[in-house]
Amino acid sequence: MAWKTLDDMDFAGKRALVRVDINVPVEDGRVTDTSRIERIIPTVDDIQAKGGRVILMAHFGRPKGKVVPEMSLEHIAPTVADVLGLPVTWVNGDYADAVAAMDDDEVLLLENLRFNPGEEQNDEGFAKRLASLGDIYVNDAFSAAHRAHASTEAIAHLLPSCAGRLMAEELDALERALGNPERPVVAVVGGAKVSTKLDLLGNLVTKVDALVIGGGMANTFLAAQGIDVGKSLCEHDLADTARDIAQKAAAAGCEILLPRDVVVAREFKAGADSEVVKAEDCPADAMILDAGPDSVAHIAQVFERSKTLIWNGPLGAFEIAPFDAATNAAAKTAADLTKAGKLVSVAGGGDTVAALNQAGVADDFTYISGAGGAFLEWMEGKTLPGVAALG
Ligand code: ADP
Ligand code: MG
Repeated sequence: MAWKTLDDMDFAGKRALVRVDINVPVEDGRVTDTSRIERIIPTVDDIQAKGGRVILMAHFGRPKGKVVPEMSLEHIAPTVADVLGLPVTWVNGDYADAVAAMDDDEVLLLENLRFNPGEEQNDEGFAKRLASLGDIYVNDAFSAAHRAHASTEAIAHLLPSCAGRLMAEELDALERALGNPERPVVAVVGGAKVSTKLDLLGNLVTKVDALVIGGGMANTFLAAQGIDVGKSLCEHDLADTARDIAQKAAAAGCEILLPRDVVVAREFKAGADSEVVKAEDCPADAMILDAGPDSVAHIAQVFERSKTLIWNGPLGAFEIAPFDAATNAAAKTAADLTKAGKLVSVAGGGDTVAALNQAGVADDFTYISGAGGAFLEWMEGKTLPGVAALG
């Protein structure tokens, strides 16, 4: 798919309506992590450098179409100003006057879009009202692109539109990993349950050369082969589904890697007694909580002969040591290969990003997506409405 970027647009003397994701975590009225705001700096700076003025549009929380004062972007505006290093004016009510009066380096921040029911309904009227405030629409919120909302979808049909820097970076990374990758491609899919990742598995087996299945969902695949997984997290009712996915993989020439050995414990707590056993030897009263060293070595071999890696979901219950060992070791191998220029590595997913940060390798991956739902839907092969509307 082709989309325009900031480089394709003429911003001189124009007002840019920029959809951003600044849905930052707030505790006791304080923003505790500004990374989402930091990521929009290149787009804001570039538009201003090209002579354009910036109007930011964003959502915050889930007010469900009603005004919820605690979710007002007024509270976030000072932090946005600090991080951007620019005067930021939060506006509410009559946007038209504020827009007419804005200075060149001033950034306007519109009130939480989701206070208006038209936003989540992808309402044409609300989109028109927003569009009337600017000349060019820029979408820099990949993480909201899986939703067809007025500020992500309808508005893109009303104004000349393009992707912001962050959106373009994200799309390029995903294209490199799954759209048009260098082969062989290996995918790692881990996490808790098969049921949450069915579409993702079904899509990946037709696109990648090898699929490493880890985490709790590997137990479901092992059980589907008739292996007793004891008290492990396992969706026994999905045995048929797991077999279908395995068959689909075989038909598509995708090799599936399941754990060969596993780390088992009787309880899931820090410092719990654990042992490594063969995947088929899980004791009846134990749980599989991580992949074992043989599995990790096998995964490393596959990484070494691959050119591209796409990763979602940890290989074990990484929140508690020692069940983070397989995830850490595989992440380290991927990071080393990436640093050596041998692998393009792209990862995403809330817990995956946390696990890679914990492993200390996040900076060494080619790209780590900050988008949760949108990243997963991309991996599922779905068309994201906010991306399609830019085409
Ligand atoms: P992401 O947020 O990256 O998409 P998921 O939410 O699907 O990832 O999965 C992460 C969760 O999976 C973590 O809470 C982790 O503890 C859990 N998990 C991984 N392996 C196991 C296992 N063997 N047993 C139970 N839970 C597991
Ligand atoms: Mg998760």
